[in-house]
Amino acid sequence: MTSLPATTSATRNTRPQTDLTVLRKEQLSPHMVRIIAGGPGFAGYVNNDYVDRYVKIVFPQPGVEYPEPLDLWAIRETMPRSQWPHTRTYTVRWVDTAAQELAIDFVIHGDEGLAGPWAASAQPGERLTFTGPGGGYNPDPAADWHLFAGDEAALPAIAAAIESLPGDARGLAILEVDSDADIQPIAGPAGVELRWLLRDGSPAGDSELLVTAIRDAEWPEGRVQVFAHGERGYMKGLRDVLYVQRGLERAQVSLSGYWAKGRVEDDFQAEKKLPIGKI
Ligand SMILES: Cc1cc2nc3c(=O)[nH]c(=O)nc-3n(C[C@H](O)[C@H](O)[C@H](O)COP(=O)(O)OP(=O)(O)OC[C@H]3O[C@@H](n4cnc5c(N)ncnc54)[C@H](O)[C@@H]3O)c2cc1C
Repeated sequence: MTSLPATTSATRNTRPQTDLTVLRKEQLSPHMVRIIAGGPGFAGYVNNDYVDRYVKIVFPQPGVEYPEPLDLWAIRETMPRSQWPHTRTYTVRWVDTAAQELAIDFVIHGDEGLAGPWAASAQPGERLTFTGPGGGYNPDPAADWHLFAGDEAALPAIAAAIESLPGDARGLAILEVDSDADIQPIAGPAGVELRWLLRDGSPAGDSELLVTAIRDAEWPEGRVQVFAHGERGYMKGLRDVLYVQRGLERAQVSLSGYWAKGRVEDDFQAEKKLPIGKI
């Protein structure tokens, strides 16, 4: 069996733990809920400058007793891996430092899993503990135009990226959602076209809509920068379109799987660290 890289306490400094309180919740669309969190713990949140900044939300395992206050890094040093809390990765949609709060948008994808069902029923006053943020992407001002591709899981990061663009930026965003009720307003520059692909009730992660749309799209002239994220199979398809068909260089592209059809995040993230799991 191939062993996985261990998480060490050095990560405590680069990805500190933040403990927030759920303040309120907004139903953005049938399949997306926004949790706004803050409280005294916000003072310990160390923001970064990436528009795709993401955190790892901590979900303690039921039936396991953890020392209070919950400290993920201490738990990882002292308890067996089988008892570690689960984590789920989420984009920080926006941060309002003046109001001492931040927002995370959750896809509501049914009864399976931890984070989606938690967000669906979360109430003000509940604890929201995470580590991070990480991140790695910002729109490159030197790019002639920007291409965004993703499904609902990437919508928060793509929306944040488009909103950060200067007024004269040009681009194309191709976004897959369930139905037109899931289309969200995104306040971007006029030169960035938003194209929505609707699954119309067919299951997420099974469609060819996104890959086909990117493959067949007419691309403007000039050097493109790409931000493409979403279901793992979609990203494998896009990798071929972007690198093989369109001949892009790695440096022009931010591409990764955000989730995998039929797999919980623990398994999916563990696979990503192995050679076989790399897209
Ligand atoms: C950097 C990064 C940023 C991300 N940002 C966001 C974000 O802002 N908002 C967001 O909602 N997600 C985001 N994701 C994706 C999110 O981490 C996964 O969807 C995660 O699996 C959700 O955890 P869960 O506990 O709800 O489901 P899990 O326990 O991981 O999975 C349970 C089942 O649900 C399925 N499933 C998981 N996610 C989805 C989905 N989106 N649609 C349909 N079925 C699904 C799985 O295939 C599995 O069968 C991000 C992922 C990464 C890596």
